[in-house]
Formats: sequence, C-alpha cells, structure tokens
Amino acid sequence: MDLHALTNDPEGIVEADRAHVWHHLLQHKPHDHGVDPRIIVEGKGLKVWDIKGKEHIDSVSGGVWTVNVGYGRERIARAVGDQLTKMCFFGGTAGTIPGATFSQMLIDKMPGLDRVYFANSGSEANEKGFKMVRQISHKHHGGKKSKILYRERDYHGTTITCLSAGGQEERNAQYGPYTPGFVSVPHCLEYRSQDGSNGEAYTAASLKAIEDVILREGADTIGSLCLEPITAGGGIITPPVGYWDGVQALCKKYNILLHIDEVVCGLGRTGTWFGYQQFGVQPDIVTMAKGVASGYAAISCCVTTNAVFEQFKDDTDKLGYFRDISTFGGCTAGPAAAIENMHIIQEEGLLENSTTMGEHLKANLHALMEKHRWIGDVRGKGLFAGAELVMDRDSKEPVDEKTVAAIVGDCMKQGVIIGATNRSLPGFNNTLLFAPALIATKDDLDHITDAVDQAITRVLG
Ligand code: PLP
Repeated sequence: MDLHALTNDPEGIVEADRAHVWHHLLQHKPHDHGVDPRIIVEGKGLKVWDIKGKEHIDSVSGGVWTVNVGYGRERIARAVGDQLTKMCFFGGTAGTIPGATFSQMLIDKMPGLDRVYFANSGSEANEKGFKMVRQISHKHHGGKKSKILYRERDYHGTTITCLSAGGQEERNAQYGPYTPGFVSVPHCLEYRSQDGSNGEAYTAASLKAIEDVILREGADTIGSLCLEPITAGGGIITPPVGYWDGVQALCKKYNILLHIDEVVCGLGRTGTWFGYQQFGVQPDIVTMAKGVASGYAAISCCVTTNAVFEQFKDDTDKLGYFRDISTFGGCTAGPAAAIENMHIIQEEGLLENSTTMGEHLKANLHALMEKHRWIGDVRGKGLFAGAELVMDRDSKEPVDEKTVAAIVGDCMKQGVIIGATNRSLPGFNNTLLFAPALIATKDDLDHITDAVDQAITRVLG
C-alpha cells in the first residue's frame, strides 16, 4: 500500500478506518451499512472540520471535555516539539526540567497539596490514588483500612479496578468480576432526591446516607472516599449546598482520606483551577488528566499532601516506598504541553471567562427550559452544564436514549457537536451535556443553544 497516497486520499482514509480502526465507545454496525466513520482532520478555536470538509462548532472540547484551551494552539505544539527534540523521555526515577517546572506551577495553584505523581490517563491517575490508600492501609492498619468508597453515578476510569469504583451501569455491565474492596454510597442529585426531601434536608439526607455506609462497613475498614467534585458523565450533578463541607467533616471524623477526581473539572472547567475549590474543601489526593494539557499530549497527575507522601519514605522497610511506575509518565511532551496550557489559561483570563460565559450558557439553557417543557432541570458550573430531559415535569420520567441520540444527531447535522451523559442508573442517560473550550464567546454559546432549540423542536415538538 502506498501510504503517502493513502494519507492524501480522503475516501481511502475513510475506508481504512472502516476496515481497521476500533473506535472508543461506539457501536460499529452502522459502518457496515453505509454510515461512514467520522474523521476529524483540523481544528481551530472551538471549530473542527471533518474529512468531508464540513465545519462543526464543538461544544464538548474534543468530544470528551478535554481541549480546554481550544484547538490549533501553535504555542503548545512548538513547546512540545522543542522539548522532544532536546530531551524526549527518561523513566520517572529521574526528574526532567518540564516535570519539575510544571509541578511547581501546579502546586502554586493547589494550597495544601505538595507532591505530583505523573502518569498518562485519568484511569491511571486514579489507580495510583487507590494504590496509595491500599499501601498506607497495609503499613499502618495491617491491611484492614483498605476499602474505598465511591458514589453512584460517578465514573473514575476504564480499567477493571476503576470500574470497581464506578457508579455507572452502562460502563460497568459485563466487565465483572471486579476488584474487591470498593463500596458505593448514594448519589447527590437533588432533582432526583431519593427520599423526596430538598434544600438543607436533602443535603443532610445525602450526608447521612454516606455516614450510614461508613458505620455499616466500619470506619476502621475504610481508607478513602473518592468523588468527582461535580459528577460529569453521570449527569452533570452539582452537589447540594453544604454537601462538600459535610463530606469533609465525615472524612475528618472517621479518619478517611478524601480523594477528589478532577479528571474533568480540573484546569478551569468550572471557573476555578479545580472543581473542589468551588466548595472550599481540602482534599488529601487529587487526580487530574483531560484539561491538564488540553489533549495536546497525554498526561495525568495524582497530586497528594505531604502527609500522604511522607508515609512512603520508610527506609527501614524494603517495601517502604511507592512501588509503582508509569513508563510514559517519563515522557516530557506531557509537562511541556501542560506548562503552556496553564500559561494560556492564566494569560487569557480563561478562569474568568469560564465563570462569566458559564452564566451565559446557563441563562440560555434556562431560556430553553421556559420554552420546552421537555427540559426538567438545568445544572452545572462554569463552562460545564447539563440539561436533563424528561417526558413530563411532574413524573420526571426520563426521555429515552433514542430521543437523546436523535437530538444530538440533529445538532450534528446543523454542524454543532453536543454531548449526552452516559447511562448511569438504569434509564438515565437523558442529560444533554455542554463543555466547550474555555475561550467560548457569547456568540459561540448562542449558536450552540440555538441549534439545541431547533433540534428539540424537531425531535420532540
Ligand atoms: N475520571 C473521570 C471523572 C472521567 O470522566 C474520566 C473519563 O472520562 C476518567 C476519570 C478516566 O479518564 P481516562 O479516560 O483518561 O482514563
């Protein structure tokens, strides 16, 4: 095969993809029946162009809420190229200049946290956090304090152990048996209040539900509680007021490490550097990935306090250090890209833009809610928002998956890429999802919500 000719032949590329590429999270059958695989060839700002030349505005930052600073940033590409030319890789037992520089920049934005462990994906970073908790349990509690609590509807990654900490039906089903020692606590979506309570009473009930699990399992068996600050794929769930204060208090009371998964919310998505900073909470372990280098390179981090780190410095014990490695955690492309990514967020005021444009996006979605009775709830923070679709506002019966897919597909035809949540609990993948690059303007957001308006009208009436 002449590969040069192939690269310059759009139809050949589509056929090579159809024949050989196994796409993520995709049912491929339609590709056997004339539907072409989607191939994205170029991006600039919020826009992407596919191989057929069609322009799209991307409201989900690369489909999976990653490209926080937008497409086409030559500055990042150049920094990565320069760094790779000088020093591409060295295994993580040694440091590198971009690794140390980025760690300093990151820790400057995370008061109370001290150490950065480099890896490649969100799943991997979370696994590091779980392993740290397990090793601490073996060192100090005879292995007994090893359970990890996670929450319904949250997602922490794709490996079997991350799925063991995963609260989403669609991602988990048929991949068991799972890693033992993971225990779920109920979700905290007030709109779907489990006992009908709301406001302060709902917050109290949600916290009591966590405490009940702690008491049932025994606090001396629980090492950490791992939560997303705002549940992303499970429904854009902004926790009720006071929830995070209560979570922090429970962790303190029962000596449980608080692990916050910032894989989605990190690096400005909600309007602060990290989602947890919206709630004034102080975690022990923070994991991050997607927005760290906005997709320009693969990098994730597991960040800890010194209190956690110091427990891995026992040189009287042959096993007294963190016996973990991530080969490509030593690739310098990640931190080189992450440094420029952070500079861009800072210099262009993207945290502020996420906050103000996030208000505009929410206002647009609320206006759609006035117009369309199918929208039951609007949630989110910063440029991270969801609109939950229901058949009826009183019963709150969720619209079905096909309807959601039809709305997403209609937007796509209009040249607007929007997202939808995963099926978390049975029947619930009924939330439209918006997480555009943090450079989004009012015009971009109006364009996106106008498309949604038309799509809902066409699909649901
Ligand atoms: N944590 C959260 C909250 C996520 O949404 C994801 C991915 O979507 C992950 C972890 C896993 O990240 P990765 O796909 O990079 O392994």
